[in-house]
Amino acid sequence: MFEDLNDLYQQVILDHCKKPRNFREMTPCSCSAQGRNPLCGDQLQLFLDMDGDTVRDASFVGSGCCISKASASLLTDFAKGKTRADIETMFASVHEMIKTGKVIGDVGKLAVFAGIYKYPARVKCAILSWHALMSALKGGDQEVTTESEQN
Ligand code: ZN
Repeated sequence: MFEDLNDLYQQVILDHCKKPRNFREMTPCSCSAQGRNPLCGDQLQLFLDMDGDTVRDASFVGSGCCISKASASLLTDFAKGKTRADIETMFASVHEMIKTGKVIGDVGKLAVFAGIYKYPARVKCAILSWHALMSALKGGDQEVTTESEQN
């Protein structure tokens, strides 16, 4: 699929795409947000169960390409047990990494997306679930789209 991505990273993405983690609706949930990437047709809804400022549980449903699903799967795994501030810090790192390939600090498993910047059309797929997460944390029920992302 992506010749330039290292094999291990590609395997992780394919695994999360075929068997997405946390792929379920959450009712009730503390907050949720919808994200849409018109460029590719990805759409997802992300759910959070909050304990004060900490994410107790995270899940998502939706349909889309392999990259968008794998990203949401890895993101919901990452978010559990993290605080709002942890997530904001990680969003900044991951956003930079996905767009430029520069890895700042420890991004853990999310490093599998470090090669995505070479595929500009896929950047929005990878960042979609992050925008939905940030929107959910802000309590916004408004749909977010990737239209504001610059290529
Ligand atoms: Zn996509």
